[in-house]
Amino acid sequence: MEKVIKNNTLYFDGCNTVELAKEYGTPLYVISETAIVEKCSEIKETFLNRYERTRAAYASKAFLTLSMCKIIEREGLCMDVVSGGELYTAMKAGFPAERIELNGNNKSVEELELAVEYGIGRIIVDGLDELEIIEAICREKGKKADILYRVTPGVKSDSHDYIVTGKKDSKFGIPLDDEVIFPAVEKAINSEYVNFLGFHFHVGSQLHDNESHLKALDIVLKLIKDTKEKYGFATPELNIGGGFGIKYTDADNSKPYAYFLDPMMEKIQQFSKDLGITRPEIVIEPGRSIIGEAGITLYTVGTIKDIKGVRKYVSVDGGMTDNIRPALYQAKYEGLAANKADEPKTDMVTICGKCCESGDVLIRDAQVTQLKRGDIFAVFSTGAYGYAMASNYNKNPLPATVLVKNGKAELIVKRQSYEHMIENELIPDSLK
Ligand code: PLP
Repeated sequence: MEKVIKNNTLYFDGCNTVELAKEYGTPLYVISETAIVEKCSEIKETFLNRYERTRAAYASKAFLTLSMCKIIEREGLCMDVVSGGELYTAMKAGFPAERIELNGNNKSVEELELAVEYGIGRIIVDGLDELEIIEAICREKGKKADILYRVTPGVKSDSHDYIVTGKKDSKFGIPLDDEVIFPAVEKAINSEYVNFLGFHFHVGSQLHDNESHLKALDIVLKLIKDTKEKYGFATPELNIGGGFGIKYTDADNSKPYAYFLDPMMEKIQQFSKDLGITRPEIVIEPGRSIIGEAGITLYTVGTIKDIKGVRKYVSVDGGMTDNIRPALYQAKYEGLAANKADEPKTDMVTICGKCCESGDVLIRDAQVTQLKRGDIFAVFSTGAYGYAMASNYNKNPLPATVLVKNGKAELIVKRQSYEHMIENELIPDSLK
């Protein structure tokens, strides 16, 4: 595995994490290339190579940098983007446009124009008005866009409410009411300006059970059947989203991709046979499961406050600015003193950040060794939605990111400087 303890020190993908902290400073995101490649290989072996006419589009919202684009391109995956900024990053990295898929519940006209201009692989349309905008853009540019409709299957999955997306009361996707979905499908099938390829759903994130994926699949397969019966249209493509859960703590029982995908593929295969259509091309959009466990964050311990009979707070030099997930949806993490990795965990503390919010807690009730100022504390499984959701709250600069592989470390994101942080700020003449 990527995490090893040697000489009382935590090593990650062969790198001494205490040395990394010394060389690059803290807070520091450390990303293991080996771990990313392992996940991509699992996807290839158990899905892409096992089933023909399949694609995996890495959901780049989980973690996107130019270097990540290079890894994903090299590993042969496609890329899911959800904004002009993500699209720009991928294009800047030289990612092939035809392997990019654009999602998003409120794409701007400018973002859609960019997507059409670049000739990206798919636009996942989130509503009828979006179709009209795309049609107008394609008409003007003399192009035709390949599109899918994102639908909301109306399934509630077992995850935090903020990362559940497939239920009916959702800002994402098109609801499956007959009077809404069928006119939309008919319009897309008959459009001169788009190639309508099928449907997309994404039920939620950090799921350990395949139940909601399978339930949603049944509902969308029924839609495919109805579409065939109503319009004679044999859906050529189905995107079944991401959401495959990872291990943050010992309580997380994460499963291999096959646990989700094999029963889905079996269902789709049988369904296609019964309906007498070619099985649609199947696309998945894993984000967290590729990058989550590939990342750790290193912090330096600062102030320690032992409030007798209440709680012991151990403050670190980052917090909700580099990992908003605990504050946003009570996400749980585990960690370890990287420079005392073998020492007995005799203390129970709350690892908190340095931001002016009481909710700025990274790990509540962590079982740790006796910590003191200057220790290096590593929080595990921070690769997904950490850097991606980072902020400058309290004018804290964004951390640096290093990519590690077999004992070698390379900087892939420089630490933000104070100067860079205020570079877009202006003082108008009236205040000078
Ligand atoms: N696809 C879509 C449309 C999403 O909204 C998300 C996450 O919110 C993902 C894929 C990736 O999900 P995950 O990171 O859980 O795999």
